[in-house]
Amino acid sequence: MAENYRLETLAVRAGIERSQFGEHSEALYLTSSFVFKSAAQAAARFANQEPGNIYSRFTNPTVSVLERRLAALEGAECCIATSSGMSAILSCVMGLLKAGDHIVCSAGVFGATVTLLGTIMKRFGVETTFVSGTEIEKWQAAVQPGTRVLYLETPSNPLTEIYDIAALSAVAKKAGALLVVDNVFCTPALQKPLELGADVVVHSATKYLDGQGRVLGGAVLGRKSVIYESVFGFLRTAGPTLSPFNAWVILKGLETLQIRLEAQSARALELARWLEAQPGIERVYYPGLPSHPQHELAGRQQKGPGAIVSFDVKGGKEMAWRIVDNTRLISITANLGDTKTTITHPASTTHGRISPEARAAAGIGDGLLRVAVGLEAIEDIKADLARGLA
Ligand SMILES: *Cc1c(COP(=O)(O)O)cnc(C)c1O
Repeated sequence: MAENYRLETLAVRAGIERSQFGEHSEALYLTSSFVFKSAAQAAARFANQEPGNIYSRFTNPTVSVLERRLAALEGAECCIATSSGMSAILSCVMGLLKAGDHIVCSAGVFGATVTLLGTIMKRFGVETTFVSGTEIEKWQAAVQPGTRVLYLETPSNPLTEIYDIAALSAVAKKAGALLVVDNVFCTPALQKPLELGADVVVHSATKYLDGQGRVLGGAVLGRKSVIYESVFGFLRTAGPTLSPFNAWVILKGLETLQIRLEAQSARALELARWLEAQPGIERVYYPGLPSHPQHELAGRQQKGPGAIVSFDVKGGKEMAWRIVDNTRLISITANLGDTKTTITHPASTTHGRISPEARAAAGIGDGLLRVAVGLEAIEDIKADLARGLA
């Protein structure tokens, strides 16, 4: 949009292109292909001499609205929507890297990202070094001559460690590498990695962008010169394309992005403060608390602390499971970013397949629980957790 609209306005309106019917709500184009007026027009479209849609594996008008809206929200020149968050990350690394290239990645990334980068991409000659801890020197030390990408998620999952995007962008620049940031936990409502110096943002739209736990989707955002030929080139050929229906659902979710993130962050802060005061709780991990080691950095880098609260309970796995099993309202599921609050025991679920030693090294103890706070009344969430804690 030409005017300098604020995020809430862009989330509702950016990217709309009305058809000849003048529909108010974004139109849903459920069509796999597009018809040409003539053989000459078909040839011109295929030769990239005339703009326009050809086939929905490449582009679709509903998906394009979502891409323009997400680009406006993240402040990106270019956005490529994908079928899921993981296919966004796959398209990103397949588009940007080749055999012999090297990635430096934060250890606290989404479990499937660890497998994708550490195991699957390794089979194709792309090596990844995982760095644990937030110290910039550790990243610097992990850089090799072939390092092409620095990859991170901030806040990290489940311990909410905060990485300094601006400082790591300087490390990436010096190494001649691209800084890729997974912005799923904050979304552009709370954090704009591209403004802080990141080159590429990846998203799972499945989480807060949809916000209501309905569909899978993802996106890769950045400068056109970096991602268009490479990442879009991979997507239109390989096909991890977002369905128009899912794009339409996510567009509707985006309209309430800012108010959901603000409301869910406010509830999460209240829950984190309450948990910190409970005798059965050992430690609370939440960037909005002064006790968080990167509280100050989070305040500088993020517009709000987010809605993920993790905590260690006294009494290890037995007490953690007791709290989980005594909930009646909170959903026992590993998903997050929903209006429904969810609870996870990382050591036996999302991080259950890594060795106990590796888990301990990553700081994921048997008493750790992660709550992704939704939109229910926080008194009801507290009461649900208090039952097991009692
Ligand atoms: C869920 C998630 C992903 C993967 O997204 P899918 O849509 O499930 O493929 C990637 N990164 C983070 C931080 C996530 O939470």
